[in-house]
Amino acid sequence: MKVLKVDHIGIAVNSIQECMKLYKDLLGLEYAGSETVAEQKVTTAFFPVGDTEVELLESTSPDGPIAKYLEKRGEGVQHIAFRVDNLEAALEELKAKGVKLIDEKPRMGAGGAKIAFLHPKSTYGVLVELSERD
Ligand code: ZN
Repeated sequence: MKVLKVDHIGIAVNSIQECMKLYKDLLGLEYAGSETVAEQKVTTAFFPVGDTEVELLESTSPDGPIAKYLEKRGEGVQHIAFRVDNLEAALEELKAKGVKLIDEKPRMGAGGAKIAFLHPKSTYGVLVELSERD
């Protein structure tokens, strides 16, 4: 497997609207748009920075994974996403080497990317997302 770059850093927030003040107005980052991923009960907002992006994550439902994360740990960095050249091959390789996977198969994430999460128990407490884009 080959990791190409840090694709984005996912940050769980109570309100994307509220966070605009920091990322857009104070830090002056470009806002590249929002997207709701219904299956994950999350709305995302992307702010490109150099070769990577900040991804804000706001829950659309009290029983969604981001709502549960916020309840347990509060706002903050929720995951780091690495772009890989071949997601299916990467998952197979990591599984064969004993890494615990949350997603055994790629699924659709924001922006039409194929994504999969590794289990934090296998990644020293960091929720790692792998992503592949055409
Ligand atoms: Zn992500």
